[in-house]
Amino acid sequence: MHGGAYKNMKTLLRHKLTHHDSSKYDGFRLTNLGYDYLAIRTMVSRGLISGVGRQIGVGKESDIFEVVTPEGETMALKLHRLGRTSFRAVKSKRDYLKHRNSYSWLYLSRLAALKEYAFMKALGEHGFPVPRAVDWNRHCVLMTLVKGYPMVQVKNLSDPAKAFDTVLGLITRLAQHGLIHCDFNEFNLMIDDEENITMIDFPQMVSITHRNAEMYFDRDVECIFKFFGKRFNYSPPGIKMLKGPSDAENLDDDEEEGDGRPDFETVAGGEESLDKVLEASGFTRKDQETLEQFIENAEGEEDLSEEEEEEEEEEKEDDSENLQAENVDNISNAGGSFQKLTVDDRLDEEIDSSRDPQSLPVVSEENAATKPCFSLQDEGDESESGEEEDPKLQKRLEKTRNRAASHVKGGGRSRNSRNASKDKGGRRSRHVSTSSGYEF
Ligand code: ADP
Ligand code: MG
Repeated sequence: MHGGAYKNMKTLLRHKLTHHDSSKYDGFRLTNLGYDYLAIRTMVSRGLISGVGRQIGVGKESDIFEVVTPEGETMALKLHRLGRTSFRAVKSKRDYLKHRNSYSWLYLSRLAALKEYAFMKALGEHGFPVPRAVDWNRHCVLMTLVKGYPMVQVKNLSDPAKAFDTVLGLITRLAQHGLIHCDFNEFNLMIDDEENITMIDFPQMVSITHRNAEMYFDRDVECIFKFFGKRFNYSPPGIKMLKGPSDAENLDDDEEEGDGRPDFETVAGGEESLDKVLEASGFTRKDQETLEQFIENAEGEEDLSEEEEEEEEEEKEDDSENLQAENVDNISNAGGSFQKLTVDDRLDEEIDSSRDPQSLPVVSEENAATKPCFSLQDEGDESESGEEEDPKLQKRLEKTRNRAASHVKGGGRSRNSRNASKDKGGRRSRHVSTSSGYEF
C-alpha cells in the first residue's frame, strides 16, 4: 500500500473507525463507530447539534441519544443499526446470508434512516402526532424529543377511553392515507402527563397496497386491543365479552360491530395517499422493496433461544468500541448533561484527508452495496427487541451503562488513557466517539 494511504489506514484503525479483516480477503471495513463518526460529524458541521447526552433508548435495531442544538434545544438522535438483530440470524445459520451478500447492513441502515425521516416528515405535515423530522444523514435521524414515556411504562390512565380512541384513530387515519405502521404497539406510542399521544418508529411502514396489508393492519389493531385490555382493563363500549354462541349470534357483522375491530377494506384509502409525497423525498419504491425484504425476513428471526443470546453476549463482551458503549457514561446523570461537540479537524488532519466529511477515505457508503469488502461491523449482543418487557430493556441499558462506567474509570480497555480528551470550557468532557480523544 502506498505510504500515505498506509498511514491513513493505520490512523483509522487505531481509532477503531475501520477494522482490518484478513480472514476471507485482505480488506478493511467501516465500523459502527466509524459510521457514527461520519454522520454525527456531518450533523455538527451543518450546525444542527452541538452536544450529545445520555442514551434514551435501545431499540430493536437502533440506539437513541439525547442531543442538544447550538440554540440549547434538546432533541433526539436515532442511529439505525439494521443487522444488529440479523447478526444473530447469520450466526444461527438461517438463510440470512443472502442478504449479506446482496446488501451491506450499512446500506440498509442508511435506507432505514432515509425512510424514517421521509415518513416522519410527511406524517407531520399531514397532521399526525409524530416528532418533527429535523434532518438525516447516513444512518442517523435527528428529530424533536418527545416528552413523556413509551406507553409500555404507563400503569394507569385517567381516561383510557380517550387514549384508546386516539390510538385506534391513528391506525385508521394512517390507512386512509394509504399507510400501515406495522409495529404499532405500546413501545412505539409515547404518552405524556396530559395523556397526549405521539407515534414513533417508522422504518417498517408499508403501503395499503402491500400484499399482506390487511394482515399488518389487523395485527396493529389487535396489539392495541390486547394492550388496553390487559394493562388498563379497557375495551371499547359495544364490545361484548362473548359468553356463549347465542351472544355471538346477536352481534351484527358490520364494520364496527362483531368483534369491534375496524375493517381494513372499509377504512383503507380515501384520503390523499402519501405514497407520492414519499417518492418525492428520494425514498423510492425500489428502496422500499429492499427494506421490506429485509424486515420481513428479520421478523421470523427474532425468537432465538436464551442460550444463543447468552453465547452472543459473551462473545461480544469486549465489543465496547462502539458509540453505544462508549458514550453513555452520562446515562446515570439522568439528563441535562451534554458532551460538547465541536468540529475540530484534528482527526481529519491526522488522516491527511479532505475536510469534507463526505470524502473521508474510508468508504463511500453509497457504494457499500457493491463493495462487499466494506460492511458494517457485526454487532449482535445489544440488540433489543422493542417488544420485550421493559425490565429487559432496563437490564440492557444497565449493562451498557456499567460498561461505559468502567471505561470512564479506566477499567476497560480504555483508549482514553492513550488519547485523553481535553476538557473544554472547564467541564470534564467526553465526547461521542471521543474515547479516542477527538472531537467533531
Ligand atoms: P426502534 O426502531 O429501534 O424500536 P424507536 O424509534 O422505537 O426505535 O425508539 C426506541 C425508544 O427510544 C423508544 O421506545 C423511546 O423510548 C425512545 N425514543 C425514540 N424516539 C424518541 C423521541 N423522538 N423522543 C423521545 N424518546 C424517543
Ligand atoms: Mg420501536
